[in-house]
Order: sequence, then C-alpha cells, then structure tokens
Amino acid sequence: MHVLDNTQVERLEAEAVNSAKVRQPMYAARKKIFPKRTTGSFRRFKWLVMAITLGIYYLIPWLRWDRGPFAPDQAVLLDLANRRFYFFFIEIWPQEFYYVAGLLIMAGVGLFLITSTVGRAWCGYTCPQTVWVDLFLVVERAIEGDRNARMRLDAGPWTARKLALRVSKHAIWLVIGAATGGAWVFYFADAPTLVGELFTGTAAPVAYITVAVLTATTYTFGGLMREQVCTYMCPWPRIQAAMLDENSLTVTYNDWRGEPRSRHAKKVQAAGQSVGDCVDCNACVAVCPMGIDIRDGQQLECITCALCIDACDGVMDKLGRERGLISYATLSDYNANMMLATAGGSSSVNPSLVRTADGLFSDKVAHFHIRKIFRPRTYVYMGMWSLIGLGLLYSLLTRDRLEVNVLHDRNPQFVTLSDGSIRNGYTVKLLNMIPEPRTIVVTMQGLQGGEMSVVGDDVKAGRSFAIPVEPDRLKMLKVFVRQPADQIHGAAQTFTFRVEDKSSFEADEYTATFNAPETAR
Ligand code: SF4
Ligand code: SF4
Repeated sequence: MHVLDNTQVERLEAEAVNSAKVRQPMYAARKKIFPKRTTGSFRRFKWLVMAITLGIYYLIPWLRWDRGPFAPDQAVLLDLANRRFYFFFIEIWPQEFYYVAGLLIMAGVGLFLITSTVGRAWCGYTCPQTVWVDLFLVVERAIEGDRNARMRLDAGPWTARKLALRVSKHAIWLVIGAATGGAWVFYFADAPTLVGELFTGTAAPVAYITVAVLTATTYTFGGLMREQVCTYMCPWPRIQAAMLDENSLTVTYNDWRGEPRSRHAKKVQAAGQSVGDCVDCNACVAVCPMGIDIRDGQQLECITCALCIDACDGVMDKLGRERGLISYATLSDYNANMMLATAGGSSSVNPSLVRTADGLFSDKVAHFHIRKIFRPRTYVYMGMWSLIGLGLLYSLLTRDRLEVNVLHDRNPQFVTLSDGSIRNGYTVKLLNMIPEPRTIVVTMQGLQGGEMSVVGDDVKAGRSFAIPVEPDRLKMLKVFVRQPADQIHGAAQTFTFRVEDKSSFEADEYTATFNAPETAR
C-alpha cells in the first residue's frame, strides 16, 4: 500500500458548528423584525384583501336573513344546540354534513390550484395569520412610528413615554384579540342577543372561555410571535413546495439583471467592471415582514406577500430603471434569463448580456405570460374543483326536505293477537326539514289487508293517516301494523311507508319488512 505524507492529505473547508468556544443553544432567541411601511400596487391590493376578509369575518354574524317565524334570522349560524347550520338560504342538517366535507375538499383543491399557479398567495394575502399580523402592525406603526422609530424605541431605555406607548399598543392588540374572539362566538348564537349577554355577565361560561382563548391566541400569534408562526408552526410552507413546479409564479429576485450589485455603480463602471441594477439599498429587506432577504433566493420563510416588489419598484422608479428587479416570475423564465446572463452558465452574471447596446432588454429575455400558468396540472385542478362544486350545487338544488326513516322493532319481531292476526311494531321518523309546520300524510302501500295505528295518538286505524310536524323538526311515531292471519303470504313480506306533503307535493318512501310466524299462513 502506498503511504501518503502529511502534505498529500486533502484539507476540507469545514469547521465545527459546536465547539468548545461556541456552543449552539437548543433554541435560538427570536430576533425582532421591524418591517418598514411600504407603498405600491401590491400593498394597495393587500389593504383591499385585508378590508374584505376582516369585514367578512366581523360583520357576517350581524347580517339577518328572514326564514319566517320558526327559524333563526341570522344569515350565518352554527346552531349547535339544535344541530343545524344556516347559511343564508341554505339549511344543513347533521346527516347532510357531506356538504361541509365537499366544501372543505373544494377549499383544499382550490388551495392546490392557487399554489400551483401563483405560489403561496394564500399565505401572502388571505391567511388569517397574515391578515391579523398586518392589522397588528398598523397599530404598532400608528403608535410607535415606522421602522427606525420603533427600532430606536426598542433599543432605548424604559422611560415614561416608552411605557405609555407600549401599554397603549398592547392594550389595543388585546382589544383586537377580544373582538376577534367575540366575533367568533357570534357565529354560534344570535349575535345581538349574545353581545348583550356577554356584557351583562349572563352568557354561557363556554362563550367567555372561547373569547378568552381566542383573545390570547390572537394576541400571541398576531402580536408577539408573528413570523415565527409561519416559519415554525405552520405545516403549509413545507407542503406547498410539493405543489410548485417550474411554471408556478413566485416572488423572485432577478439576479440576471441585478448582479453584480453595487452601491457605487459609477465607480465600478468607471473601473471597467459590469454592474447590475441592484444598488444594494436593502429596501427589500427592510419591508419584509418575515425578515429575510429575497436576494438569497427562494426561502421557506417567504410568504410571497410581494411587499419587497413594491419597495424595489419604488427604488427603480427613483433611479429611472425598469421595474421588476424583484417580480413574480416562473422558475423556467428565471432559468432561461440566467442562462442568457451567464452565457450558458459559463461565467458569472453579466447584465450586459441581457441588454442591447441601447440599454434596453434583449429580445431574448423571457417575460412572464399568463398562458404559462395554465398547464395540464392546473386544468386538472380546475376540473376537479368545478366537478365537486357542480355536484354539490346539483345535490343542494334537488335535495329532499321531507324524509322518512323506519326502524322495525327487534324484540318481539311480531305479536299474535287474540283474533289470530299478526302485529309488527315500527318506529317511524318523519323529518320536516323546512322552517315551516307541515301536515304529513303517511300511507302504507302493499301488505294486503294490513292497517296502521299510531300509539298514543287518536288516529283511526287504517291504511293512511295525517299528522302535523313542527317546523324544522324530527317527529318520531310508534306505529303498529296489523295484518289478518288469512292475508299473510310469507314469514317476511315487504311493504312501503309513503310520506307526502300534499301542499308542496314532496314525498319520500321507505320499504319495510312485515314478519310473521311460519304457522300463521
Ligand atoms: S421576501 Fe418579499 S415576498 Fe417574501 S415575505 Fe419578504 S417581502 Fe414578502
Ligand atoms: S430594493 Fe431592489 S435595489 Fe434595493 S437592495 Fe433590494 S433588490 Fe436591490
């Protein structure tokens, strides 16, 4: 075996992450982020989305919807006590939970569709965590000032002013938290009644507990933890990576035109070196609510809120350069432009390769086109989403609001009466699923010579009877069916309970079995 000397052993560029001098803590302390206020089209869009989502959340429980005198008039209500879900003109019973499951599946497929086309738009614009953090930041900026003022205040000693500002901020955050928890419980009870009960101390304990828990979680997640919820607690950043491909839009730093970055472009150019559009001003970093630098490439933390796009566009406007140094871009376009800027990958980025002699972008530069995000995968998601939606809609429009269910008595299966006739007992459940009283006619079909009687009701025995059913209620009847011995044609005969609302022509049927002893024939 050939023996190497010391100088021939390759030295690797590595150093111990944990050493005697530096031991890494189990948990790194949070570094505070002070996002700077920004303006621009994405910020305006975010304001709009925030106003709409918060408006929907806080105002919906106060909308009224007239369902007549026998049902609540709250447009959206989860009536747990009566096991009903009211959504404007739709009323869902527990056995119709598949509508809710269908809506959840639609939401899931919709999320896949959105993520595969425009990346983490959910995270950046509509996720409650994002919306509430934005709201909490509005309060923080209004009280403590923008980034620099907040950083100074945070680093400064505790003075009466600092204490007053901090107390005010946290008090308003707590009020927002309480309003958030309060709005949530209004979805489960009549809002005007419950608000009065909450303030007079007469609401149910569970209402106070729910408000308290949601106040605490909103305050903690939105005010104190902020970006840490997205980075460490939410599974979505990990899952979404599987849904992105090279044609998904993501917020991208276009280093093919930005690098080499320099604060002293003129000096660098005078020295004969090429320089990109990035002036290394860090405006994009200062506005980022996640505290990252998009110039480091795609990162798990990036919620694609696009505020860095606004910040950088503002800088480009001031410099008289094209907007879009940071932009929504697809990986395929980015890669194509990088190949152009690096002469096929053979050199570092040379921005002059993507421009003409006039300083304009070369025709070879790939630009985003809307058709790129429509691809087989998005069509499959759209198809699934539409099919589920249409199926639910069809089912909703054609569903029965009158149902009958029947349970045959198990013990005894039948009784032989003194005249030799056979009697079977049934529990008949009539479901009136509209908020109006109805008179339901129950008729038996088949079972020759048979007749029904209702236990505890003075309905005359016969093959049909009418019975009132309260609005939005299930009525249970104990029904005996009797058949003379000479009419019995088997140990198990089938017949039908038919229920009908003569005024609306709605009907339902249930096929039941009539049992008799073998010897009765
Ligand atoms: S990098 Fe840009 S898009 Fe991503 S979170 Fe920060 S500001 Fe938002
Ligand atoms: S805002 Fe634009 S120019 Fe300024 S550092 Fe960020 S990418 Fe560069």
